[in-house]
Amino acid sequence: MREYTIKSTRKGRDYIWGTLYYSDKTAKFHIKFRCALDEMKKDKPPAMIHRFMTNGRTELDAELSLLWVSERIIPKDRQNIADILRENNLTTYREIDMLELSMGKCTLDDIYLTRICPGCGKEKKLSEFGYRTMENGEIRHQSWCKECRQSTSNTECDINSKTNKT
Ligand SMILES: [Zn+2]
Repeated sequence: MREYTIKSTRKGRDYIWGTLYYSDKTAKFHIKFRCALDEMKKDKPPAMIHRFMTNGRTELDAELSLLWVSERIIPKDRQNIADILRENNLTTYREIDMLELSMGKCTLDDIYLTRICPGCGKEKKLSEFGYRTMENGEIRHQSWCKECRQSTSNTECDINSKTNKT
């Protein structure tokens, strides 16, 4: 599960609006807002936040989350989409890849995303996450940061070596 913080920066202050999750297994998004709209109102959330928070909603299902994402990324039917994909070493259009290209930034507002490692809970740059090249040549970022992956593989090795000895 990939995890992103939904943020904006105004007058040097960081506002956290919620968290966006993405499952590479199911290719689904899930958004959880920081709190209910009433509690958030004093911070004047951007339209892209409060518009989705009607009926006391603090979470968005896969369908609404995808709608939220879709409004912030290069659409599939963009005329030069093939060129954009090629320039970024992508063979197929996937919303998550488009989202990571811009990290959620768009001209509508000042919202952006930062990537969080679910292993250590730290906010990290995309380059601090490992990636692997898939058989079709696509590059996929991994959920956990390089540091966390490193430490888990070490632990696994330790366990294995201990088991082998006994
Ligand atoms: Zn980590």
